[in-house]
Amino acid sequence: MSDDDVLVLGLGPVGATLALLLAAQGLRVRVLEREAAPYPLPRALHFDDEVMRVFQSVGLAQAILPHTRVSPGMKFVAPDGRLLMDWSRPQALGPLGWHASYRFHQPALEAALREALAARGIAVETGVNVTAIAQDATGVTAAGRRARWLVGCDGARSITRETIGGGFEDLGFAERWLVVDMLLTRPRDDLGDHSIQFCDPRRPATYVRGVGERRRFEITLHDDEAPDDRMDPALAWSLLRRWVTPADGMLERAAVYTFNSKVARRWRGGRLFIAGDAAHLTPPFMGQGLCAGIRDAANLAWKLARGEDALLDTYQAERAPHVRQYIETAVRLGGLINTRAMADLGTDAPEEPVRMASIAPALGGFAAPLGRPAPQPVLGCGMRLDDRVGHRWAVLLRDAALPADHLAEKGAVLLADAALHPWLDTHNAIAALVRPDRQLCALARDAAGVAGFAQQMEGRG
Ligand SMILES: Cc1cc2nc3c(=O)[nH]c(=O)nc-3n(C[C@H](O)[C@H](O)[C@H](O)COP(=O)(O)OP(=O)(O)OC[C@H]3O[C@@H](n4cnc5c(N)ncnc54)[C@H](O)[C@@H]3O)c2cc1C
Repeated sequence: MSDDDVLVLGLGPVGATLALLLAAQGLRVRVLEREAAPYPLPRALHFDDEVMRVFQSVGLAQAILPHTRVSPGMKFVAPDGRLLMDWSRPQALGPLGWHASYRFHQPALEAALREALAARGIAVETGVNVTAIAQDATGVTAAGRRARWLVGCDGARSITRETIGGGFEDLGFAERWLVVDMLLTRPRDDLGDHSIQFCDPRRPATYVRGVGERRRFEITLHDDEAPDDRMDPALAWSLLRRWVTPADGMLERAAVYTFNSKVARRWRGGRLFIAGDAAHLTPPFMGQGLCAGIRDAANLAWKLARGEDALLDTYQAERAPHVRQYIETAVRLGGLINTRAMADLGTDAPEEPVRMASIAPALGGFAAPLGRPAPQPVLGCGMRLDDRVGHRWAVLLRDAALPADHLAEKGAVLLADAALHPWLDTHNAIAALVRPDRQLCALARDAAGVAGFAQQMEGRG
């Protein structure tokens, strides 16, 4: 029997990232995975700055960056070509130190994650199908391996979620869509760089420009199409014909999915946790399913490293309301591009396009700006803030003379850097406390406030 700190069940992007985060924070980790090879069908192709920051924290941003493309954003277009809504994204680096929106190719990301696991000597066992999970007072057992904790990053049909109990709460969206990745063999610049949501009552569809020659089309299916959910290339080409034909390129991969909107009722049962698709499912209209899973991993990793029961209980309390806001927004966007909502818009559809702003919810239990990612400027020493801090607490100070040695003694990195002044001034603060997962958890307006950071570090953060 192995004697690990954490068993991670599932080597998808969330399980792999969690294992890297846990190992970076000094835990012994073992990943158990049923399949020999990564999932072959088309899935995620967008992630955001917060997710890139998590990859940065495990030393992977530079390996992943060449496989990405900064996204200009998304447009929602009516059947007559009118622009209904514009969700363009900034093209400059944002306050988190990365671009707001990246396109990527999920297999390239998964390959980079697996290489990093191997390079760091993290135990990964493939071909292990976990069929039962047991826990007792001292640990968890799965497939004969034992550890103090188990995190099920085991996808939508999670056995970990089943073992914990409670099931999914269904937020009401369920639609069948055909998803196609196409490789262009001749230039089709006219397809454009923006993602397009075709708000067509007859056939809602999505176009996304991928990395390199890859182009994604997601198209709603009617009930009589692909009734057995099997992908039929002839059907795919007939649905794609509006944009592309076989003369433009080849079908790389395609699948029929039912897009769901669900949140698990219980994310923890004793020593068991769930993260990623095991804990929540969203329609992909905001490109946030994987992003939410990576946020779960970052939220849980430092709490497992500390291993305190009450702190571990904050995981679901913080993450579930946060992901719910993304899912509910994605469902609303799905409503906008589907038949009923367009009919509702009717002739009153706006003449001027609506500008959509990205949502930025706070973690459950916090009020913004707390419970949101702290900024990541480049410091005077030339390093980005996170590279300087590592997986530790950070205290951002307006003045180096502020009394904060008691926080350094607790392991916090103290930073009094001019690059932080504008942000602290915006919040009328002389100091800020940032958790190891980069979430802002306290602001201080006076020295007493800075002294109070010690309690935050001892409590839930
Ligand atoms: C069409 C589509 C488009 C999407 N677009 C985006 C996007 O643009 N941006 C975004 O952020 N998200 C997107 N998503 C969502 C994203 O792909 C998923 O949220 C993400 O892949 C989930 O990762 P995961 O690691 O949680 O689960 P998975 O990738 O499903 O991994 C689970 C792993 O657990 C293993 N496993 C399961 N059970 C067991 C067991 N009993 N024993 C051993 N191993 C087991 C499985 O084999 C699998 O490898 C999209 C999804 C779809 C379908």
